[in-house]
Formats: sequence, C-alpha cells, structure tokens
Amino acid sequence: MTPSPNPSPSMPPDGASAWVEIDLDAISHNVATLRDRVGPAEVMAVVKADGYGHGLIPSARAALAGGATWLAVAQLAEAIEVREAGIDAPLLAWIYPPGADLATAIGHDIDLGIGSIAHLRLVTDAARATGRTARVQLKVDTGLGRGGTLEDFPEVVEALGAAIAEGAVTLTGTFSHFAWADAPEHPTVRAQQERFAHALAHLERRGIHPGLRHLANSAATLTNPSAHFDLVRPGLACYGLSPVPDLAGPADFGLRPAMSVRARLTLVKAARAGQGVSYGHEYTTDRDTILGVVPIGYADGVPRAASSRGPLTVGGARHTVAGRVCMDQVVVDLGPTYAGGAGDVVTLLGRADRGEPTAQDWAGAAETISYEIVTRMGPRLPRVLIGGTS
Ligand SMILES: *Cc1c(COP(=O)(O)O)cnc(C)c1O
Repeated sequence: MTPSPNPSPSMPPDGASAWVEIDLDAISHNVATLRDRVGPAEVMAVVKADGYGHGLIPSARAALAGGATWLAVAQLAEAIEVREAGIDAPLLAWIYPPGADLATAIGHDIDLGIGSIAHLRLVTDAARATGRTARVQLKVDTGLGRGGTLEDFPEVVEALGAAIAEGAVTLTGTFSHFAWADAPEHPTVRAQQERFAHALAHLERRGIHPGLRHLANSAATLTNPSAHFDLVRPGLACYGLSPVPDLAGPADFGLRPAMSVRARLTLVKAARAGQGVSYGHEYTTDRDTILGVVPIGYADGVPRAASSRGPLTVGGARHTVAGRVCMDQVVVDLGPTYAGGAGDVVTLLGRADRGEPTAQDWAGAAETISYEIVTRMGPRLPRVLIGGTS
C-alpha cells in the first residue's frame, strides 16, 4: 500500500464543540508497514479497548485492509461485537470470567485464550454442551506474572492433550506476553523468549502441535525480530504511535498517528494582566492578553494531570493549557495580538510534522504513556472517520 498524506482537518460534525478524527487509511498503512517489516510472519492486529479509542469495528476493518490476517481483542464481549458486525477473520480473545457466554463464542469461531485448568474446563464444558469443537490458544506466562499458565503449565498441557483427543478443543496457537519489551536489552526479554521456547518444546514432546506461535507486542514487533515467530501481535503501532518513545518516534518506523483531537473555541475575550485563570488560579496572566475557552476537559479524556502543561495549537501557534484542566473545558492564553475569534479550531492531538501536539507530548505532560491518552478519549467526543473503505 502506498502511503497517502493525512487529510487536512475535517469540519466538525454538526454542532460538535470537540471531536476526534480517525484516519482509517493511516491504520491500514501502519498495518501494511508492520507486515512488510515482519514478513513472512503475519500480523494479528490488536483492536481491544475500542480499537485503542479509535473505534473497534472501523479499526478492525482498516487493519484487515492493511493486510492483518488475524484480529485480537481482550474481552470476549469485544470479540462477539466484531463477529456481529459481520467480520469473519480469525479472532482471538483472552479475557472472560466464569459464567461468560462461551457457547456463543464457540459458535462464532472465536479463539479463546487458555491460561489455566479452570479456563480449559469452562471451554471444554461449553464445547461438550454445544457439540462443537472449540478453538483455543494456550497462553503461557513466561515471566509477565499476569495472565497465562505458570507453575501449572505441565498440568494444563496434559488436560489440553486429553481435550484435544476427545475432540472438545483444537489448539490453534500458543502465545505469551513480554513484561519489558519496551526495553529491548532488558534481561527478562531473553529469559521470556527462552521460557517460551521451552514451553513449545514441551508441547511437541507431548505430541501436541502448538499451532501459531506468537509473542511480540508492538515494541517487540519493532525492535526484536527474534521474537516474531509465526505472528506478531501489535496494538499501539497499528494506530501509529511508538511503544518505545525514548528510542524512536512513529515516523522513524514509518508509522502515522491515526487519531486527531480538535475543538472549537467557544469564547475569546480580553483579560488584564494579573487575571487568575481556571480553578485554583494555577495560572495568572503576566500581561494584558486574550484568553480562549476550549470546550474539552477531563471528562472527555484530557488528563487533569496535564494541567498547566498540556500542549495545543490554535491557528498554527503552539500554546500550553493555562491552569487547571476542568471537567468540560480548558483555557488557553492566546496572547495580546490574537486576531481570531470564537469558532476557531484548536488542535490537541494532530500531526507532528505540522507542529501539532502528539499523544506522546500529552503523555509526557501527564506523566503517562500514549496508550492511556488515546484509549481514554471519551464517548462524548463524536468520531469523524476519514478514509477507509466502509
Ligand atoms: C494489549 C496487548 C497486546 C498489544 O500490546 P501493544 O503494546 O499495544 O502492541 C498484545 N498482547 C497482549 C496479551 C495484550 O494484552
């Protein structure tokens, strides 16, 4: 796929004061870029958490258009939503509680992650009840200390072998997840790869084919070819953000951020020097100036921790949020010569090559990670989809 330039800022949906633009072609481009990078390994695009805030179904379709051959979500309900939208690509989900509707999952050919004997029992019970063979993927905890089999690994493998022999399940894949992939030199990276290799060898010795082997999240996809195996499993990179911001930015990997966040000034007004601004007067004007009120706040996902630090651009000029981020609004000191007015577009997330702030800039301002910035953009912000085929 040839990269096309990002479209220029769209007009907001009717009456919207703040909105999120999603460049679906950027998602397709990013997935195609990752696929080229890892081939012959394939790409399983992670679209959990509403496609990292970009929209579950549009992101899933855009990822498939870019050449992803698999999709992954965290929660079973997300996987069912993908199927109900008519998407029939191979699909993995690994989070489901006791009592989850596994019969529906099995009926939809959703691959279920198996991380314990209890998980395997839930799935085999549902498979027996429905008379269908469930597709499962063995999730091995190689050191993250979160989901997946740990000390119980041999026991789970024995039970899995029995369930396969019975025809209750078929093993389509074996996977694990890194703790420190964003620090490629960290000793745990190699240790986890070794444990993964041991787990695969153990399966083979028991006569069980591990299916597709996958270990690499975005960071390992971009920095660690020895972890690519049969499939890579990136989330963040599909949306054009860097999982290793201290090492390289999106453009260094050929990735384009897919999310922009904009608002329109609702009020532009003169203020004297010495005017305290927003709750607690954390900011005070140091000269006669013009203030702009931006109708987006922490209820929309603008982190309050970025008060007095978060970046935004107005008419191409870069500013910092003046004082505290409120629930529905932030204030910007536009300077004494500002010639615009209410209705002018403010960009909170946009294109770095145009001098607009990025998710990483906001992450730095709020002392968090870009993942949290994009996944938290709230439902009150209408999504404007740009590009894509559907
Ligand atoms: C979220 C997640 C991913 C994707 O991680 P990124 O860092 O966004 O690439 C992959 N695998 C598992 C198990 C995950 O939970």
